[in-house]
Amino acid sequence: MFFSILYWLKERLRDAWLWPLNLVRDFPARSGRLLNTLLVGGKAALYAPIFLGQAVWLGQLRRQVRHAARQTGIWLHLFLVQLFDLVGGPEICQFVMHLGMHTTPLTAAEMTAVQPIFGPHNLRYQDVRIAQGGILHLIFRYNGGLAFATWYTIHLPVKREGGEGTAVSTRQNLPLLVHELTHVFQYHHVGSRYLGEAIYYLITTNRNCYQYGGPAKLRACYQQGKHFRHFNREQQAQIIQDYFTHHCQSQDTAAYEPFLVQLRQQEL
Ligand SMILES: [Zn+2]
Repeated sequence: MFFSILYWLKERLRDAWLWPLNLVRDFPARSGRLLNTLLVGGKAALYAPIFLGQAVWLGQLRRQVRHAARQTGIWLHLFLVQLFDLVGGPEICQFVMHLGMHTTPLTAAEMTAVQPIFGPHNLRYQDVRIAQGGILHLIFRYNGGLAFATWYTIHLPVKREGGEGTAVSTRQNLPLLVHELTHVFQYHHVGSRYLGEAIYYLITTNRNCYQYGGPAKLRACYQQGKHFRHFNREQQAQIIQDYFTHHCQSQDTAAYEPFLVQLRQQEL
């Protein structure tokens, strides 16, 4: 008991330390993304009167206004989440959320299994935390036991199996871990926008946003010049999960390879 309290305290101190640490080490990437968004917004605002003038001339004002409203919404989302990242919002949120959970780092066996997929230097593997128990029991009761990743934390449910309803941890499910790690990878390379984008597709498709058509469709997509970044956030995670499953079962993974390369090149 004493040691588990000590371990919990050590983990919370680590969470607290990550805030100033990431404020500094992630400043270049985070400020760069925000600056880029500001430049894109400034340029769009500058050209807006010309586009609207053209739309009036062509009688397409209503359509153009609808398009502009949608683009503004997307831009505003980016601006807000990038500002949130810049002030260390992810670290503050994770610190608070972890207060009611049990967190553990990836095991040596898990690291060995996942590092060849994402590349040795593309993720801070030692910073990844698997969260289980505590307030998560309540969350999983409401979301139907759907595992999810918030920033550098992967939340795994406990599944009830058999007639007795024995509790089985989903931690042994390595393909699921790979799926959720893809979301961590997305966060690491594009920032918190991945979370808003994933939730948007989950809601607008009624959770039907994972399908990408399997290896045959993937092959066709590649031939048509489709890139990994053109798939939505859930499809991206599902592609990497399925690659891993095929790989573990010694099945043909050729259809997945080009997209895996793009993932490792951080083309998200
Ligand atoms: Zn997912």
